[in-house]
Amino acid sequence: MVRRKLTTSDIQGIGMTSQRTRNRLIERLRVKNIAHEDVLRIMSKVPRHLFMDEALASRSYEDTALPIGHGQTISQPYIVARMTELLLASEYPLERVLEVGTGSGYQAAVLAPFVKKLYTVERIETLYLHTRELLYALDYRNIHCRLSDGSWGLEPEAPFDGIIVTAAPESIPQALPGQLAIGARLIIPTGAQNQQQELRMMTRLSETEYKTEIIESVQFVPLVSDTNP
Ligand code: SAM
Repeated sequence: MVRRKLTTSDIQGIGMTSQRTRNRLIERLRVKNIAHEDVLRIMSKVPRHLFMDEALASRSYEDTALPIGHGQTISQPYIVARMTELLLASEYPLERVLEVGTGSGYQAAVLAPFVKKLYTVERIETLYLHTRELLYALDYRNIHCRLSDGSWGLEPEAPFDGIIVTAAPESIPQALPGQLAIGARLIIPTGAQNQQQELRMMTRLSETEYKTEIIESVQFVPLVSDTNP
C-alpha cells in the first residue's frame, strides 16, 4: 500500500533506482530498436521502482518482467515501449484509450502522457486498489481505474481510439474489436501459456472490416476470463 505521501526523492530514486540507472535502461531500449523519442523521454522519467515491491527495487531498471504478487508481473520495459510505440503510430489522435490488465500501473503511467483519457481495467481487487492509489499519489489524473473483467472491454466508454491488452488470451476476445473507433488499433498478445505467443495489431478499417498484423513473439501471463465472452 502507498501509506504516505511520496516525496521528490522517493520519485527520483537513489543508487540502483536513480536517474542514471533509468538512463542506462533507455540506452538498452535504443539498442533494441525502440526509436520513438517521446516514448523514451517519458520512460526515462517514470519511476518504475515505485510500481513494484521495495524488495525488488534494485532490479527495477533491468529490462525484464518482475513479479508483483498474485502470480502477476510488471511488464518488461521493452514490451511496454513497443506496445506504446505501436499505438502512437496510429494516424488518429488518442483521445480515449483502454488498457486491459492494469497490474502494477506501469504501462498506464507510460501511456498516460500521450492520451487525453486512459481507462484501465483490472480483475484482481487488491491490485486494482493498490494501483489506483499509487497512480493518484503520482498525480496521474487522466487515468481511470476500473475493477472488472476486461475481456468484455468497457462498453459504456467505447468507442476507443486505441486498446492495449497486457495479458494474453488464446485468441482475440470477441467484444474488443467492436469497441474500436474506425481507424483505431488493438494491440494484443495472443496464444496459449507455455507455447509461442504473438503480439498482434488489429486495425479497424470500417464498420465491418479489420486488418490484423503479427508484430513479434512475446510472453505474457494469461488473460483470465471469469465468464467466457
Ligand atoms: N500493464 C501491466 C503493468 O504494466 O504492470 C501488466 C500487468 S500483468 C502482465 C497483466 C495483468 O492483467 C494482471 O494484473 C492480471 O491480473 C490482469 N488481467 C488478467 N486477466 C484480466 C481480465 N480478464 N481483465 C482485467 N485484467 C486482467
